[in-house]
Amino acid sequence: MRLLITGGAGFLGSHLCEYFLGKGHGVICLDNFITGSKDNLKPFFNNRQFSLIRHDISKPVIVAGKLDYVLHFASPASPPDYLKYPIQTLKVGALGTHNALGLAKAKKAKFFLASTSEVYGDPLVSPQKETYWGHVNPVGLRGVYDEAKRFAEAITLAYHRQHGLDTKIIRIFNTYGERMSPEDGRVIPNFISQALLGKPLTVYGDGSQTRSYCYVDDLVFGIERVMFSKFNQPVNLGNPNELSVLLLAKRILKLTGSKSRMVYKPLPQDDPKVRCPDITLAKTKLHWSPRVSLDEGLAKTIAYFRGQ
Ligand code: UDP
Repeated sequence: MRLLITGGAGFLGSHLCEYFLGKGHGVICLDNFITGSKDNLKPFFNNRQFSLIRHDISKPVIVAGKLDYVLHFASPASPPDYLKYPIQTLKVGALGTHNALGLAKAKKAKFFLASTSEVYGDPLVSPQKETYWGHVNPVGLRGVYDEAKRFAEAITLAYHRQHGLDTKIIRIFNTYGERMSPEDGRVIPNFISQALLGKPLTVYGDGSQTRSYCYVDDLVFGIERVMFSKFNQPVNLGNPNELSVLLLAKRILKLTGSKSRMVYKPLPQDDPKVRCPDITLAKTKLHWSPRVSLDEGLAKTIAYFRGQ
């Protein structure tokens, strides 16, 4: 197969490049590097099956040769990043998804959208099933990401219905692992960097808000399952093991052996109070569920951050 991955230089994108190159497929990474990094791609530069297009998918693109799959992963994805790039975030979710869909249609390729648990906003029900419509503040600071991804889902299914394009949508819950940038601002890279540097761990709010964290390898297996399924409706992918931010901080202090203390900072606007995927659909229809425990995944991630 020949796959094009938008956002291929990002955290998840680069894991997908690695995974599909490892399976012998041709991979084209398309990225504008506003949040992705060339360092993530260095291991692939000598692979003849790999190529790189430096381009902003919010602008139309023409790609030579056949394509079997377009995977649209481009977007700032950490809250500090999408607050820093609000207009680019809206554009890549809206115009970028339109362009990526157009490319897939022109190439008669399948299309895969990386959507997010943020489409559920600050949810009023937990765990979140795919049938939940969400509770999103469209004009809040996070709205740029939430609404962009909600639009992205809508236009993806419109292409499926109107043009018969074979499209897949996943809603990714918090995912972590090697190649996250220490500056990315999400909770796991923040806490691990702070713990390793002996700095205080910055807990936002009182730390009672919950998340559930999926190790990246588990997510990649889930993505492959969805890619080759017959399923066109959105599918939640994440680890249903829910815990508070405070407990996460304590786990990271224990696993790093750090003597750092915790400091409490204001809770960011519209920060969801709970988040936990209901993965019944992925389990029953795709026979997928995460296998890597939090301690195991954190240990691997901590080892990577020490190396950095
Ligand atoms: N958080 C925190 N300290 C940090 C970074 C994040 O307490 O240094 C909290 C944040 O307020 C949220 C949770 O950790 O409740 C997860 O935040 P993250 O930025 O990883 O992503 P989100 O799940 O909010 O999209």
